[in-house]
Amino acid sequence: MNAGYQVVSLDAGAELVIVNTCTVTSATDAQSRNLIRRARRLNSRCRVVVTGCYAQVDPNALHDLPGVSLVIGNEEKQRLLEFLKKERDSTYVEVSDIRKAENVCLQPLTSFASRSRAFVQIQNGCDAFCSYCIIPYARGASRSARPDAILQQVSGLVESGYREIVLTGIHIGGYGADLQLPVTLNDLVQHIEQKTKVHRLRLGSIEPTELTDELLESIAASRVICPHLHIPLQSGDDDVLQRMGRTYGTGFFARLVNKIRDVLPPSAICLDVITGFPGETDRQFENSFDFIAGLPVTDLHVFPYSKRPGTPAATLPDQIPGDVSRERAARLRHLAAEKYRLFAESFIGQELEVIVEDGKKAGLLKGMSRNYLDIRFPGESSLAGQCLLVKPTSWIDDALRAEQVA
Ligand code: SF4
Repeated sequence: MNAGYQVVSLDAGAELVIVNTCTVTSATDAQSRNLIRRARRLNSRCRVVVTGCYAQVDPNALHDLPGVSLVIGNEEKQRLLEFLKKERDSTYVEVSDIRKAENVCLQPLTSFASRSRAFVQIQNGCDAFCSYCIIPYARGASRSARPDAILQQVSGLVESGYREIVLTGIHIGGYGADLQLPVTLNDLVQHIEQKTKVHRLRLGSIEPTELTDELLESIAASRVICPHLHIPLQSGDDDVLQRMGRTYGTGFFARLVNKIRDVLPPSAICLDVITGFPGETDRQFENSFDFIAGLPVTDLHVFPYSKRPGTPAATLPDQIPGDVSRERAARLRHLAAEKYRLFAESFIGQELEVIVEDGKKAGLLKGMSRNYLDIRFPGESSLAGQCLLVKPTSWIDDALRAEQVA
């Protein structure tokens, strides 16, 4: 906007549409293509610029879509204005080798669509090359933002009024290993807690092998870091885990989750799980289901396997039919809903601090607790972004209902 642009909605005669794509599944590819077509349909004279991970790994597929004027990779998007200043007669593509990228540039962001939380990307890329995953090809090698730049951005967002900051990245457990003076994620969160006035700090997804005892102890001792862990499990069957290229087994994972429950009793523990990985038999899925059912976790993000061209798993035999993957995912989502309800109901009658989100649902405000409980209660929309104390009274329609505490 400093360069003279004004943000308008897609159907308000936009002259320029920038589509920042995702390619984590074939469904997100299709959504990006649909959005490009829709942008062009609604604004027949607009320039459409496509960037992001889909543009990075398959620029030709996007170049060929009608109306696309520019396709640029994930590194090139840092220089977006430079590209926009040049008028061109035909579609221009520039995508460099992302595996050679060495830095993470923190964007000078001071506001987000939501008033309740802001996001700071502390790390990008990944070197793990799990057999199903396209991310190392789309985002490049693991690299970390400098701690001083992160502290500055967190402080700026806190001054802008954000009470909750979420630290994000692709592989945040590996934060700092590539820096000249190596630091760990635990060092970083302690610096942020000590040197900024942030009220709440939430961590994005962390690999199970990188959830150290030191980090768990820091969370347990902290009044700032939220007791909320998002951990990719991916499968609860050891053979499947091995073929996925994951570096732990179910024994390790169960010990980790039980340790978290001991050290952080009220914590939310959410797992990522993939169903229908190539060769996943009915027996292996049942092993996975039973393993997860027995873990003291509170929610699951379940994804049916999506074949990503260029990854080793895409060439494995025994690809599982989509309806089988989806049916397995539905069973796990049902299990997740039950686990979440039981966890949430255990807080009925206890006072919880929530930060109020924007907008109302069915006439009620929505607040998020430190341990990621979605809590609904009556109140004015003007409370968005505020911290309040509430007391859950019941469970209705998939969420806790609560009353404000004076
Ligand atoms: S699944 Fe996670 S750890 Fe594995 S390659 Fe993808 S981003 Fe890296």
